Parts: sequence; structure tokens; C-alpha cells
Amino acid sequence: MSPHTIQEPEGAPPTLAIVVPCYNEEEVLPITAPLFDEKLQSLELKGLCAKDSFVLYVDDGSKDGTWSIIRALARQMGGRARGARLSRNRGHQNALVGGLMEARGLADVTISIDADDQDDLDAMDGMLEAYRDGYEVVYGVRNDRSTDTAFKRGTAQAYYKVLSLLGADVVYNAADYRLASSRVLDEFADFEEVNLYLRGLFPLVGFPSTTVEYARNERLAGESHYPLSKMLGLAFDGITSLSTRPLQIIVGLGLVISVISFIGVIWCVVTALMGNAVAGWASTTAIVCFMGGIQLLCLGVIGTYVGKTYMETKARPRYIISERAGYEPSPTSEH
Ligand code: UDP
Ligand code: MG
Repeated sequence: MSPHTIQEPEGAPPTLAIVVPCYNEEEVLPITAPLFDEKLQSLELKGLCAKDSFVLYVDDGSKDGTWSIIRALARQMGGRARGARLSRNRGHQNALVGGLMEARGLADVTISIDADDQDDLDAMDGMLEAYRDGYEVVYGVRNDRSTDTAFKRGTAQAYYKVLSLLGADVVYNAADYRLASSRVLDEFADFEEVNLYLRGLFPLVGFPSTTVEYARNERLAGESHYPLSKMLGLAFDGITSLSTRPLQIIVGLGLVISVISFIGVIWCVVTALMGNAVAGWASTTAIVCFMGGIQLLCLGVIGTYVGKTYMETKARPRYIISERAGYEPSPTSEH
């Protein structure tokens, strides 16, 4: 994690693209877009980013008026707001990759952030200062989860522990509020997997990285798109995308149960030989149920990996951009 030695020449701030994935955010965008723009201007004034910096809104196939709001923003803000629309809803991670891939040819550095102003915009100053100091990736790290429910806090903490136990290199409490240089994104473009778990992939790309702490706020308006079921899905996706350790755990479990079974068999034979064998309904049923459960669970885990392999071999595009607003189309639109 040591800073990169080749520095930007003094007095030449980088062009910044703030990448904002938006799904059904018509209630939030009119409130947060001015905040993003204000932030961009203050960063320009401080000399942390260049004049041609912009916010790129990615409409993730919204079903409400989000795209017309983005188009209006692109019209009004004269180059400081751009929009890209995905042909359908592909989920937060895909929308984010779409935005980052769009932005990398247009800007020197990108910062990805949610549309709902839950992540403190002022952390961008620190991120850009770190970039100026030579870091290519800067993770926004939540230092205060007091606005989350105790349940979300507890499960999140347990989850990071499990991830690190399984050997996945994920920055603790860092979500998708992150600075990445175009250089990192150029390398990231070669990570072509369709099972995306971005916060686990960026550490794999490497390059000097650091963290900036911030406090996470409540959602300004509208509702979270991550109910418990989606959160659990993302969590399981993260584990199975980053680690094959669960498969090894299954092997270990199989070994332990085999050894116990072997001892059980000897015990059965001895009991039978001593003439003490009685009809053992309860123990037999318990063992059958227990083994059935374990086998199904293990099959499920193995099946998840097989399913992922299946999706990866298809290598379908992760997103398709159907419309753009506020800039000339770039030559590539599929990834
Ligand atoms: N989002 C998206 N596609 C989806 C769901 C969410 O682009 O299918 C965006 C959403 O507009 C927001 C970000 O992802 O900018 C995070 O979503 P949300 O705030 O609902 O999640 P939470 O902060 O509760 O985890
Ligand atoms: Mg949110």
C-alpha cells in the first residue's frame, strides 16, 4: 500500500467523473443532484479536480421518471451532468460497472457513490487528496453505523468476519463509495466475470490503495432497494465469487462425518454381537434426517458454484447501454 511515485504535474488537477447508479430514484434525484453539482464545483474551486469534471448518472432501467430527470439535468448543467441508460434493470453492481466503463475514457479518475446521499459527499476531498498523493484506489470506509439498525450492524460485522475467515480480501466496512483511477479501471476492464462483487474485485486489481473514513447518513427519500433477501443474496454471492473455501469446508465436514460413521458402524456391530440390539427408531430417524439435511445443504453449495460456472461460460454482456445524454456516444457500449 505504498504511494505511487510518479505524480501528476503540480497544478494539473485530474478530470473527475462521479458515477451514480440510479434505480427508481425520482424522489431522491431532484434533491441530491444539486448537492452533487455543488460538491463538484467546490472540488474544482479547491483545485482538486479539473473544470471539465462531471457527474455521470447511470439509469439502471428505472420504471419511474428517473431517466427524464437525468436527461433534464444533462440539458441544464451544460456538460457537468451526463447520463447513460441501461436497456433494462441489471442491478446495482452491473449498473456501476457500466458507469465506470463509460467514465474511464472520459475522465482521469472516478468516484462511485449512491444516489441517495447516504454517503458523506465531503469524503471526496480526502479521496482526491489521496489520489494527488499517488493512491490509485481510495475506499470510503464507514466509521459510524449508528443510523443502521442494530440488526444490519450486527449482520454486517459478522459477514466481514466470515469473509476474512474464508480468505477473501475485502476492506472492512467499505461499500461501493470508492475512488478509482482510469488506470485501475483499464485493468479492471479485463475482469470479465458476470458474477460481480465489486468490493471484492478492486483489492484483486491491486495498485496502491488507502481508505478515507466517513459517517453514513439515512436515506434522504424513497426506499432502500436492498431488503434483507437481496442483502443475503449479495452476501452469498460475495462469498462464492471470492472464495472456494466453502467447497473445502464441505470436504472437511464429509471427512468428520465419515469418521464418526465408521465409529458408529463398529459400535453397531459390537452391540449386535453382544445380542443387545433393540429396535432403535428414534436414533435411526434422527441420523437419517440429519444426514439428509447436511447432504442437501452441501449439494446446494456445490450447485451454486456449478451455476456460477454456467453463467460465466455464457459470458453474456453485463449491461447494454441504450441511450446517452449530455455527451457524444463512445465507441463501446457492451461489456
Ligand atoms: N440501485 C441500482 N439498481 C438496482 C438497485 C439499486 O442502480 O437494481 C442503486 C440505487 O439507485 C442506489 C444504490 O444502487 O443509488 C444503492 O441502493 P439503495 O440505496 O437502495 O441500497 P442501500 O443503501 O439501502 O444498501
Ligand atoms: Mg442507500
